[in-house]
Amino acid sequence: MALHVYDRFTGAKKKFEPVRPGKVGMYVCGMTVQDQPHVGHMFAFVACDMIRRYLEFLGYEVTHVQNFTDIDDKIIAKAQAEGVDYRVVAERNMALYHAAAGALRLLPAHQYPLATENIDGIIDYTRKLITSGHAYAVDGDVYFDVRSYDDYGRLSGRHVDDMRTGARVEVGEKKRDPLDFALWKASRPGEPAWDSPWGPGRPGWHIECSVMATRYLGEHFDFHGGGQDLLFPHHENERAQSCAATGSHFVNYWLHNGLLYLGGSKMSKSDGNFFAMADVLAKVRPEIVRFFLLNAHFRSHLDYSEERLQETAAAYDRLARGVGRLLAALAADVAPVPAGLVSAQGEILAKQVRDHRRRFFAALDDDFNSGGAIGELFALVRDLNQYHAAAGETVRDEAILAQARVLLQEADRILGLFPGGLASCLEEMDEAPAEIRRLAVEREAARRDRDWAQADTLRAQIQAQGWLVEDGPQGSVLRRRG
Ligand SMILES: [Zn+2]
Repeated sequence: MALHVYDRFTGAKKKFEPVRPGKVGMYVCGMTVQDQPHVGHMFAFVACDMIRRYLEFLGYEVTHVQNFTDIDDKIIAKAQAEGVDYRVVAERNMALYHAAAGALRLLPAHQYPLATENIDGIIDYTRKLITSGHAYAVDGDVYFDVRSYDDYGRLSGRHVDDMRTGARVEVGEKKRDPLDFALWKASRPGEPAWDSPWGPGRPGWHIECSVMATRYLGEHFDFHGGGQDLLFPHHENERAQSCAATGSHFVNYWLHNGLLYLGGSKMSKSDGNFFAMADVLAKVRPEIVRFFLLNAHFRSHLDYSEERLQETAAAYDRLARGVGRLLAALAADVAPVPAGLVSAQGEILAKQVRDHRRRFFAALDDDFNSGGAIGELFALVRDLNQYHAAAGETVRDEAILAQARVLLQEADRILGLFPGGLASCLEEMDEAPAEIRRLAVEREAARRDRDWAQADTLRAQIQAQGWLVEDGPQGSVLRRRG
């Protein structure tokens, strides 16, 4: 099966065809940096990272562009409240984004354009929309004329008449139609402002993404990512102004990830369900957060809770131990089955590895279903454990175990599961239980006190539970016995 991707426009999954052979353009709506990143933000970025990694695995040369909205009403309000320049707020939160992205091991985008670095492009684009009759200027503001574009509402599946009934023009806005949206906003005194043909002001939100996507990826490209909460109005407006300006299709596949729910309600700052990445990462290993966000289809909603994260950690450790056990088996001092021969258990395992491999890639080919792919890895580890139990102590089907390892290596490359690569799973397997570690700490204390008798008693207790304690220059190290 070849890669198929859901297309919001036709409402169907389509075989992926790149706009340019061998190349993929991917634009991801980045953060508006009035605040630090929370887990809900990172869901979109982790999903797009997995998608990019899979496309690269398939051999595409991906250009990944992710913007920062570094000027808007909320950033200005925040800066005014803090008594600082808007750039101080924006730069602080961009740094926090990069810290969270690094911890979650996101591949860096090829471009991180800023709205404020693209003002000239935004002015040109706005001028073009006015000239072609899709926008109009009023008293220093410029609005997109929704009525000038017949296809408006098609991406988000809304009808203009229904939307118009619910919309209203806010006090101070000079739109002709309640659905029209600002491309350029006149600045109030004391606000950051840039010169423009319509007077000093700043860009509206939606226009920057059209300008920056086009600048780096052209007028027509493959993927556009962002959370479902961006579908309307942001992506609808982005699409309307881009298609109106260029007459091109703009984006072939919109990648809308689901929302993150906390106790049943959407995670956002406004309702107090605010889980800053910095707080979460202080308590939970970053690989667990990444694993949690990938362990479902990216378009489905996720329920976030500490309990769910703990369950995820237990599942992750089970997977890592399974990988560690496979690597240990490949390195163990057991005579391999001679080349060309297969044990009875090996024959069963060979078929299982083939099936898991097929289903792992079928899941990813099915609209990037990373959750389904991870499910296959668990099933593989279960089968491997059965193999080890039945045959591992006496024979080793080297070639078949190596095939399982190749699949896990590829999975790690695509999903980015193990921070130290597969080899780090060996350490995972060797991690002593808490009780053993407690005894080792007590023994260290006894040795410091030169209480050799007590130290020896504790060593015996540790050994009785299957662990060895070795004293070295770096202190004592625990190792599983034999
Ligand atoms: Zn955007």
